[in-house]
Amino acid sequence: MRKIRTRFAPSPSGYLHVGGARTALFNWLYAQHTQGSFILRIEDTDQARSTDESVRAIFEGLEWLGIQWDEGPFYQSQRSEIYAEHIDKLISTGNAYYCTCTPDEIEAMREKARAKGEKPRYDGTCRNKELGPQTGAVVRFKAPQSANTILDDVVKGSIVFANNELDDFVIRRSDGMPTYNLAVVVDDVTMNINTVLRGDDHVMNTPKQILIYQALGHELPVFAHVPMVLGDDRTRLSKRHGATSVTAYRDMGLLPDAFVNYLARLGWSYGDQEFFTRQELIEKFTLERIGKSAGIFDPVKMQALNADHIQAAAPEVIAPHVKPFLQESGYNTDDETYLKALIPTLQPRSKTLREMAEQAHFYYRPELEYDEKAVKKFLKPAIVEPLKALKENLSSLTSFDEKKLETVFVNLMEKFEIKLGKIAQPVRVALTGTSVSPGIFEIIAVLGKKKVLQRLEKAIELIQAR
Ligand code: GLU
Repeated sequence: MRKIRTRFAPSPSGYLHVGGARTALFNWLYAQHTQGSFILRIEDTDQARSTDESVRAIFEGLEWLGIQWDEGPFYQSQRSEIYAEHIDKLISTGNAYYCTCTPDEIEAMREKARAKGEKPRYDGTCRNKELGPQTGAVVRFKAPQSANTILDDVVKGSIVFANNELDDFVIRRSDGMPTYNLAVVVDDVTMNINTVLRGDDHVMNTPKQILIYQALGHELPVFAHVPMVLGDDRTRLSKRHGATSVTAYRDMGLLPDAFVNYLARLGWSYGDQEFFTRQELIEKFTLERIGKSAGIFDPVKMQALNADHIQAAAPEVIAPHVKPFLQESGYNTDDETYLKALIPTLQPRSKTLREMAEQAHFYYRPELEYDEKAVKKFLKPAIVEPLKALKENLSSLTSFDEKKLETVFVNLMEKFEIKLGKIAQPVRVALTGTSVSPGIFEIIAVLGKKKVLQRLEKAIELIQAR
């Protein structure tokens, strides 16, 4: 079997958006699934709209998603000679020609066609003039005027385009720049791309591209046009529906694996399964399972999936992604062991990494911030003696494990004749400043002796100062 070669070919005129990320992901997954290659190509021939900043944003988005390309990035802006060579070839084989019709003349042709109730089109004035190169001339593709061009699409099925619908379209502008349809085919041909998987907004371009493949004498790739991603009102996903940039979701605290899982399910399915690890996606991703109907982007569902991924992930997978949020609050996160120990206590309680970092404040704050209500309710004079006793018992322990901590608390309960709740809540407030937190045994184990003893002491002082 031939090796699969896919590509992602973004135009760098903005950030990496959800739809683009989905295209990149499908191409990457398919290459991974088939042990093929995934190529990154930056389509920056539109100099007016392309910016370096957008190129960087695309890299940043892909990096966060964990999508690595095997070849590239290739830049169209650096490939002018290759396009020129192919355009010359098309001219010399009689598949393209120079055209000197002026914009006014072309507008007049269009007007004439419209007046006759026909589709506006170039009328072929220069088709057989055999003009040579000259300044201001464009190059047009000599499109066949009869028969059909058929797109056999893996997703859409067979789509028939009547060739007489096409006019002799421009493949090189008067400034010498190739047009999109020419550049994309020359690139895909010279990069040996055999699987073109992209958004279905490109279906209408495909017959022109097929004609160029044929004129160049090159075998067609497999085409797979994926339905657009839609918003909840079933219109194409746009800013009106909320954030569409991939990095906005990173900044909201999504785990990349969760976002990748959610993206994959936008237009691809595997039975009813919703949760996929990255590895599972690679194992299961085939073109046949891409759906015909558009995926609807649902941020609420995405967040629920994120919570599931946070719950299921290993602490070491979460650690690098939650760190930036902790650092945003000014915390020093150099102690990896501490970070990896506290993560499991927050995993079941966090829908996003941002939420996880917010709940981790008490682990990092040098001085606790106390919730006034909790202090009033739980830090009362009657609890001073039990807290003192707890301090003493804990200070004699050499290590904290659940069993030992349990014994300490059972002894306290017996000694002071109080229920666990009566002692656990004050301890929680003493250690976290609030009345809601992970289990106190877990917290004690993570915080460690020094911090625990300091915070108990501080709570005692607080009560006594009242
Ligand atoms: N550069 C095109 C875009 O960003 C994609 C071209 C293609 O995939 O063929 O829409």
